[in-house]
Amino acid sequence: MDNLLDFNLRELTEYLEKFGHKPYRAKQLLKWIYQSGEHDFSQMTDLAKSFRQSLQTTSEIATPSIQLDHLSTDGTRKWLLDVGAKNGIEAVFIPETDRGTLCISSQVGCALECTFCSTGRQGFNRNLTSGEIVGQLWLANKMLREQANYRLLAHEDRIITNVVMMGMGEPLTNYNHVVHALEMMLDDHVYGLSRRRVTLSTSGLIPAIDKLRDDCPVSLAISLHAPDDKLRDEIVPINKKYPLQDLMAACIRYIEKAPRDFVTFEYVMLEGVNDSVDQAKALVKLVKNVPCKFNLIPFNPFPNSGYLCSSRSVINAFKQVLMDAGLVATVRKTRGDDIDAACGQLAGQVQDKTKRTMRLKAV
Ligand code: SAH
Ligand code: SF4
Repeated sequence: MDNLLDFNLRELTEYLEKFGHKPYRAKQLLKWIYQSGEHDFSQMTDLAKSFRQSLQTTSEIATPSIQLDHLSTDGTRKWLLDVGAKNGIEAVFIPETDRGTLCISSQVGCALECTFCSTGRQGFNRNLTSGEIVGQLWLANKMLREQANYRLLAHEDRIITNVVMMGMGEPLTNYNHVVHALEMMLDDHVYGLSRRRVTLSTSGLIPAIDKLRDDCPVSLAISLHAPDDKLRDEIVPINKKYPLQDLMAACIRYIEKAPRDFVTFEYVMLEGVNDSVDQAKALVKLVKNVPCKFNLIPFNPFPNSGYLCSSRSVINAFKQVLMDAGLVATVRKTRGDDIDAACGQLAGQVQDKTKRTMRLKAV
């Protein structure tokens, strides 16, 4: 069976033509799939019966299956999704007054081994397909529409207004599938999001950043986390290959053609590691030529991480240095704490539990 979530308009048109269907059918089908959120061909009532029957024999609309579905007291909703072979990925919806943001995953695990990241600790398992990436959005949309207490924002006709690729995995090491999925999110026949409302977060793979600028220049977030190469080499090991000055130059190239754009620098606050006032000052120097905003992320602890989150007062002092230098800096609100809705944690926990059960069985 072919998963129709893998196809953009052109590919779907070609696919249908192979079976002798008219090209205009592709648009009709996309409307059913994405605007109506329908996955059952038999319910697509304005399509000819013979067309629907033919689809049923060749195609499906397949999404990852839901393993856990948690609603936090603050409205954050988190799904642990099964992508086969007991592999779990996460998607998180974060409602705010003026937007609804869905955070999605690009890989099962991650190969880059940032020392403070629970996904990195799990190691790399596999890349997600484009259909599995788009499928997270499709599924979340469907579940949120069904969520009884959810009201649409007054000025929006959609629940998910923003997408961030900040879930599990390094999106730029799964480049082709990720860009294909991004293009679908921007496509008016699919989700029609503006490129400013779609953000890709990367630990800084420079050649892929340059390529993304040409292929699909969505908003860029860079996981910075350290003001100098010595520390960044240690906590974000990919820095040894793509050091900070080169990364800053890549950021400038990325937004050069769009004067209103900026890069978001993410900076996880690790107590006693990267959170001093001197490090904040060094950061100001490092980014001085890059139009940017800072998002300071309180570290989300996980078992045996070896790190603690900086105290609120230290985070505020750090933020103040950035703001005194004229930079925009915000501290990310910790959301969905009661359901472990933080980077890689739910999957980590479930996998740990599985391992524990296996250990118990082995005894
Ligand atoms: N691989 C990409 C995107 C996924 S990680 C990247 O590294 O940018 C999304 C963000 O969560 C990154 O900024 C990452 O550094 C951060 N992060 C990872 N583990 C974290 C933790 N335990 N606490 C807080 N932020 C974390
Ligand atoms: Fe991978 Fe991002 Fe985690 Fe680093 S922070 S290990 S790049 S998911």
